[in-house]
Amino acid sequence: MRVLVTGGAGFIGSAAVRCLVREGHDVLNFDLMTYAGDARAVAECAGKPNYTFIKGDVADPSAVTAAFERARPDCVMHLAAETHVDRSIDGPAAFIRTNLTGTAVMLECALAYWKSLSQSARERFRFLHVSTDEVYGSLGPDDLAFRETTAYAPNSPYAASKAGADHLARAWQVTYGLPVVISNCSNNYGPYQHPEKLIPTVIRKALAGDPIPVYGRGENVRDWLHVDDHVTGLLAALTRGTPGEKYNFGGNAERRNIDLVRELCRQIDDAFPSPDGPRGDLIRFVTDRPGHDHRYAVDAGKAKAELGWTPATPLNEGLRATVAWYLQNPGWLARDPSELARLGLGRGDAAA
Ligand code: NAD
Repeated sequence: MRVLVTGGAGFIGSAAVRCLVREGHDVLNFDLMTYAGDARAVAECAGKPNYTFIKGDVADPSAVTAAFERARPDCVMHLAAETHVDRSIDGPAAFIRTNLTGTAVMLECALAYWKSLSQSARERFRFLHVSTDEVYGSLGPDDLAFRETTAYAPNSPYAASKAGADHLARAWQVTYGLPVVISNCSNNYGPYQHPEKLIPTVIRKALAGDPIPVYGRGENVRDWLHVDDHVTGLLAALTRGTPGEKYNFGGNAERRNIDLVRELCRQIDDAFPSPDGPRGDLIRFVTDRPGHDHRYAVDAGKAKAELGWTPATPLNEGLRATVAWYLQNPGWLARDPSELARLGLGRGDAAA
């Protein structure tokens, strides 16, 4: 396949790019390289004949058109987004621009390109819009998990911008016939995640001996999926998904944040004991995030029934491998050499 991936230098996009390139597909990675994009995550692809990188903005129609012309893709995986909920609360404008305008530009350019294709190529073409379970809002303790039919009720600016993008993607399928497939996934974890996100933050703070912040009382519940399992799901949706359909992906692994953080602390202690005592003692509860969703849970039954997809990685096993990866790659976690020294793990350049 020739695949145009947006956001392919980010956490999930880079996992998809590494997988596609290894499998021999032709990949064009289109990424603006914001603070969240990192060339180290796709370093293994650089120089390969089936990999091209273009630095560009999904909200820039001429740059996106040029990317379509260069890639001549059989399909698009659209992952580029602003993704950090806390940043969306402090500054929503970038989220509106990239997630909403950027998705509209991607859809417009994809439509123009799609119309230029032969009938058979048009039938094969797919536009996979990658989204989040946060569009569905928040669940109570006894509510049923999110299904594809659950009404949207986004609560944060991030979730609202993704919800709007999902609606745009759906509308381009219904109105113009563009073969769009939408996926909504729960929280991902794994290697190469930006250090601002929960799991890398916990590992970084634990290693440095700094207080580990947990919102509220840590009662919020998230469902966790290993990023490589998400990629398997995305490829299943891309190759076997039906245009106009959406698919939920989840790990069937709900955890309260406090339990997840304690488990990470235990695993770090096992792998790299500290003379200062158990890392769990570093946990500190901090003022809750405004509008913090209480619980997310995903029913991925449709993806299982229609795509044959199930998550392969048990959470504790995946967390153990993830902790091991960050311990081997402290250079990914540290923001500068002095912080790297405080992590106490050596040079830390293995991720490069
Ligand atoms: P990320 O923040 O790690 O990476 C985002 C990437 O998009 C970065 O490489 C960044 O440089 C790029 N980007 C940002 N603005 C851009 C622009 N205007 N033009 C081109 N590129 C731009 O994000 P992630 O965690 O890998 O998430 C990828 C996608 O998956 C997002 O659409 C997100 O909503 C969705 N998603 C994420 C999760 C999760 O747990 N991380 C769960 C479900 C869905």
